[in-house]
Amino acid sequence: MKIYCQECGAANETGLKECRICHASLPHEGTKPDYGKYNFEASPAPVKEIQPPMYLGWSLALMFCCCCPLGILAIIFGIQSASAFKKKDYDKADRKSEATRKTLVWGTVLGFVMWIVILVSGVLD
Ligand SMILES: [Zn+2]
Repeated sequence: MKIYCQECGAANETGLKECRICHASLPHEGTKPDYGKYNFEASPAPVKEIQPPMYLGWSLALMFCCCCPLGILAIIFGIQSASAFKKKDYDKADRKSEATRKTLVWGTVLGFVMWIVILVSGVLD
């Protein structure tokens, strides 16, 4: 059995009190080894607990201001994202959140264009 140095990661024979490479003190025999920053053991994927954004405010603003159909679509995507998140389907939640964002970006661009057209035609009348 080897004892691994917490400072440099070198393997040391049991019984040594300090690392043969960097002379840092080694964990005592029998204690659970703490590899510190040299922990090469496969760590489980971090659990994702942060819900991707629903963009609900933006969706509502879009629905009421300019681009109604795309606003509704964005809200639907947002709700699908939230419900997928509740079912711990984080992949789907991420995808739906991204779909919501894309829909909102397009809706906002189209809304702007629409308002500009309305304003310009109003000015020209
Ligand atoms: Zn060392």
